[in-house]
Amino acid sequence: MDGSKYTMDLHTHTIVSGHAYNTMNEMIRAAADKNLKIIGITEHAPAMPGSTNLYYFQNLNILRNEKYGVHVLYGAELNILDEQGTTDLDARSWRDLDYCIASFHDACTVSGTKEENTNAYVQAMKHPKVMVIGHPDNGIFPADYEELVRAAAEEHVLIELNNNSLNPQGFRLNARNNDLVILDLCVKHHVPVLLSSDAHCEEEVGNFSRVIPLLQETGFPEELVVNQSEELLRQYLPTA
Ligand SMILES: [Zn+2]
Ligand SMILES: [Zn+2]
Repeated sequence: MDGSKYTMDLHTHTIVSGHAYNTMNEMIRAAADKNLKIIGITEHAPAMPGSTNLYYFQNLNILRNEKYGVHVLYGAELNILDEQGTTDLDARSWRDLDYCIASFHDACTVSGTKEENTNAYVQAMKHPKVMVIGHPDNGIFPADYEELVRAAAEEHVLIELNNNSLNPQGFRLNARNNDLVILDLCVKHHVPVLLSSDAHCEEEVGNFSRVIPLLQETGFPEELVVNQSEELLRQYLPTA
């Protein structure tokens, strides 16, 4: 399948995240070279070891939203820290962001039970800026996927299909099987998925090569893939 109809990548990291390797300009240039229309820069929030500080997020509004012919959105990947869905940016720091991703990372949070993790996801969805749940396929943080997807429908939040999760050299557990379950539930509850590269270097920007085969294999409906429609994105992010 030709991936070029997917014109947005809303989950990318730069050197600011501490374990990614290109500058913001390089990432935006890579998006332009790959004919993306929209890129989202979403650094790890401060609980991630080696990432940046609160003031970085507060100051993003000095940057332009158009660069190299690409529309640039500025967000954050929040860390879900506990069962209550607590995240690691204060309101002053997320207030001016375009959107946030909320994710579990084992560098920041110890997994709870399936019920606790599910509750954490559901509570994180209620955050005013959370537009998408990041890599819920990571089996290190087991969750009740039926409950997760049902809550996403109710809270008007997207589910991410993360290309990095399917990297054979990656650290996420059982991601492929979990993705198959999640995709099936997204169809059942009519919840769109957001394809993300989760790029930590410029070569990965807009790379959906591992998730596209899953969409094909499951016959996932195109109208539930956010990346093919700016109109659909705007239902979740009116400012995009
Ligand atoms: Zn992540
Ligand atoms: Zn990420």
